[in-house]
Amino acid sequence: MKRVETTCGYCGCGCGIYVNVADDDTILGISPSYNHVVSKGKLCSKGWHGFAFVRDSRRLTSPLIRQKDGTFREASWDEALDKVAKGFKDAMIAEDNTDHIGIVSSARCTNEENFLMAKLARAGLKTSSVDHCARL
Ligand code: SF4
Repeated sequence: MKRVETTCGYCGCGCGIYVNVADDDTILGISPSYNHVVSKGKLCSKGWHGFAFVRDSRRLTSPLIRQKDGTFREASWDEALDKVAKGFKDAMIAEDNTDHIGIVSSARCTNEENFLMAKLARAGLKTSSVDHCARL
């Protein structure tokens, strides 16, 4: 078994954890980092137990694009990001303003990532409609 020191990705607190990994790369469990400046050996239930998603068969591992019939097909990141960029561009031109564009960020992002999302919204997409999943 090896212990991989990292940061819990469930919320922006950024608690320090060790992921205990078996020789076949199976995650056996999580241990807190007692010396971490934020968490000091304490974790909430998500930090301790929230790792089953890693091997969940329903986990998305590539972008999906919705088809006209409502089904999804796998796409490359380049194709998916081009489609998103075109969608934003078309919406900004069609509406002649950005009232219909908004960004929903995530509680699983760090403060710095959420700051960048707000910058993208305000400076890039010219909208102040920025929200956060913690309010949903
Ligand atoms: S252990 Fe809990 S409080 Fe700490 S980062 Fe993870 S989810 Fe957030």
